Amino acid sequence: MSMVLDLNKIKDEIRNFNLERDWDRFHNVKDLIIALTSEVGELAECYRWLTEEEISTIHSVPEKKKKVEEEIADILIYLLIISYKVDINVLEAIEQKLEKNKLRYPVDKSKSLHSNPIMGFKGK
Ligand SMILES: [Mg+2]
Repeated sequence: MSMVLDLNKIKDEIRNFNLERDWDRFHNVKDLIIALTSEVGELAECYRWLTEEEISTIHSVPEKKKKVEEEIADILIYLLIISYKVDINVLEAIEQKLEKNKLRYPVDKSKSLHSNPIMGFKGK
């Protein structure tokens, strides 16, 4: 399989993978979201209790980074499955959300600021 950087092609590849294995019938949205959050947990586990120095080791050692890569792939795979199950075009959704974010966070009012639900905007 050539991994062309086309999200819709990758989505079709994942859909075919699941159809060939008759897994589609297990894929209701609620369980897919649980699977997605489990994969997010597996990504978080890769970083749990590590210092910044240890984390930079993960990112610079290919064998260690592989585990992170795989968890990120699992997360995106589940997101793509959810998107085809609920008939959402991911690329269009991202494009629309980016436009919305540009309006919500204009550069002149948002540059170098992070937002926190309790503390509000803060500079770094
Ligand atoms: Mg995983």
